[in-house]
Formats: sequence, structure tokens, C-alpha cells
Amino acid sequence: MEHRAEARIDVASITANISTLKSISGVDLLAVVKADAYGHGLIEVGLAAEKAGADWLGVALLEEAIALRTHGVRIPILAWLLPPGSDFRAAHSHDIDVAVSCLATLEEISALKVNARIHIEVDTGMNRGGFLNEWPELLKADFSFVDVVGFFSHFARADEPEQSQNDHQLNRFNEMLAQLVSVGVNPPVKHLSNSAATLKNHTAAFDLVRTGIAMYGLSPDVKNLGDSASLGLLPAMQLRAKLHLVKHVLAGSPVGYGASAITAFDTQLGVVAMGYADGIPRVAQGAGVFFDNKRAPIIGRVSMDQFVVDLGPDSTAKSGDWVVIFGDGRHGEYTADDWGASSASINYEIVTRIGPRVSRIYAPHVY
Ligand SMILES: *Cc1c(COP(=O)(O)O)cnc(C)c1O
Repeated sequence: MEHRAEARIDVASITANISTLKSISGVDLLAVVKADAYGHGLIEVGLAAEKAGADWLGVALLEEAIALRTHGVRIPILAWLLPPGSDFRAAHSHDIDVAVSCLATLEEISALKVNARIHIEVDTGMNRGGFLNEWPELLKADFSFVDVVGFFSHFARADEPEQSQNDHQLNRFNEMLAQLVSVGVNPPVKHLSNSAATLKNHTAAFDLVRTGIAMYGLSPDVKNLGDSASLGLLPAMQLRAKLHLVKHVLAGSPVGYGASAITAFDTQLGVVAMGYADGIPRVAQGAGVFFDNKRAPIIGRVSMDQFVVDLGPDSTAKSGDWVVIFGDGRHGEYTADDWGASSASINYEIVTRIGPRVSRIYAPHVY
């Protein structure tokens, strides 16, 4: 099918990143494939990660986990965002491990009397998911109708390794684990690290690391931890789109809604066939596209389906040519990091928000 915008996913990069991360951590790896595998494609990446040696898959939603099982994933899958009232019977029948972060959920799962596999999530200081105020009661709970496989928590500031909150969370994790063990529950799979902790905090690896962004080849925090290349990671996604139109305009021409930019000289504008409906941030400024070994910056505001770039007066681009919106950066093109910076955001948000109108192609990047 002919298309105007595509995200090319290089599965070989994901495979290489998994090997890199496994050798850094030295423990089992859970490949985080929530949110359509950070925009890279849930099923394709899930199956590729399994093949590449991931030991577990992790998702937020039950339906994501069921889709993976339905498509043939055999390794353990953990789903961690199941509020009370979720279909825990379906989770059990698809052999999906579920996170438990409140007593109501534990009671619902216990009531099934199927010995369902659970991971106890504890709040060690992020004040988001996990047991906090209900913890003393949980320590008195009846675990005889569940199989407590895992014990886990999540770091709030692993991308700032020097922050003492990391030590506090790690200490609290060990303390809560010891309390659980003292009431006779000893979960075999303890896990705390996300990508940033996997890369920078080896004392937090325990039995399993949960890597998301780094598996896709992106840095959890470019400023604090360095970029992909410095971390030995290969960005898996290249985003390309067609120039819907190229045309010559005169100096002093206002461009786009609100006339927020005005051409400084006679130039050629390129209209790129992707917009904020496809995940290009409306406010983005300072990023752009790459064509013929040159960067062409965004000019004016991003529209719903399109945005305009200044190709420069001498560009050879023509209507219908492909341009690279972001790639691994090794050729001079913009990166997902640059697009994050262009919109007061982060690479995570750039890749996860690429919309369903953009074709996902599982093939090497092209320049
Ligand atoms: C999203 C998520 C991760 C992965 O985080 P990255 O920074 O992408 O590695 C790990 N654990 C949990 C609980 C998550 O929600």
C-alpha cells in the first residue's frame, strides 16, 4: 500500500539492545511493551523480544497482555495496571501474572480460588502505584489462595542517579521485603529497576530488570545519562514522511496558522505530510526534517495533518520526496531526543504518541 508517513522499526536494533541490557544487568530481563511497545508495535516487538532472549514481557493493561498471548507469546507476562473489577479470571486463564497494589484486588483474586500468580507492588517513595497505607494490613492478609511470584516497586528518579531518593527507595524496598518474608511470604522474583536504573544502579537489579525505553534504543534522560550512542544503544525507530508539496516563496511571507513565522529570505518551503494528529507536537520548534544530507527546520506552527519546513533556496527536493523526521542521528538527522527537546517533552512521549495513521514497517532504516 502506498503511504505518506511511516515509522520504520529495525528489529535487529531491538535485538541488539536486549543483548546489551542483559549483559549490563546480569539478571533476567522483562521487556516493557506497554503502549503499543512505545509506539513500535505490540505484537511485532513482543514476539521479537521473546526471540531475542527477553525472559519476561511487561505491559500496563490486561488487554495488551491477552493480545500477546493470543499471538503466541510463551514467556511469562506481567500486567500491572489492573484496578479492582478487572477480569482476573481471564488473566489467569491466559496465564498472565498480575500486579496487586491494594487489598481489594487481592480479595477479588483470592476469591477465584485458582491460585493465580501475583506480584505485590509496593510504594517505596514515588507515591504513585503500590501498597502504602494498606501495607500493615497486607502483612496480615491471607495468601493461601494466590501464588505470590513477585515483589516489585518503581523508581521516581532513577534518571538522576545522584539523587538520594534512589537510596531511600532501595532501602525501603529491602525493608518491606524483609517484613513480607517475616510473615512467611517469600516471592522468588524481586524487581525494581527501570531502564535508567538498569544502566546506572547495579545494586537495584535483584532478580529481574524491567527495561522499556532503552530496549528501543533511546536514553532515559539525555542530559543526565547521555545519548543513545554514549550508552551503546541503537534507536530502533526511524520516522519518515513524504513532502506533500514543495514550493518557492518570497522573503517576508507569513507561514501557517497565526502567521507565527515569516520567511527571512526567498526560499523553498516543504509541506510534510504529518501533523499533530499523527503525534508531531503542535508546539514543536527547533526540530525539522532531514533531506539530501541537510536539516530543514520547522517554520510556523504544526497543523493537524501537516507541517512546513524551510528547505532553503537551493534545495533539490520535489513534491513527493521522502524526508526523515527522526532517526538514530548518525547521519546528521534529528533524533527523537531532539523532537522531545523541541516541545518541552521527552523521547518517550515522541515515540509513544505516533498515531495509527502512520504505517509501521519492520525493515532497516533508509537514507
Ligand atoms: C513503563 C514502566 C517501566 C519501564 O520504564 P523505562 O523508563 O521505559 O525503562 C518499568 N516498570 C514499570 C512499572 C513501568 O510502568
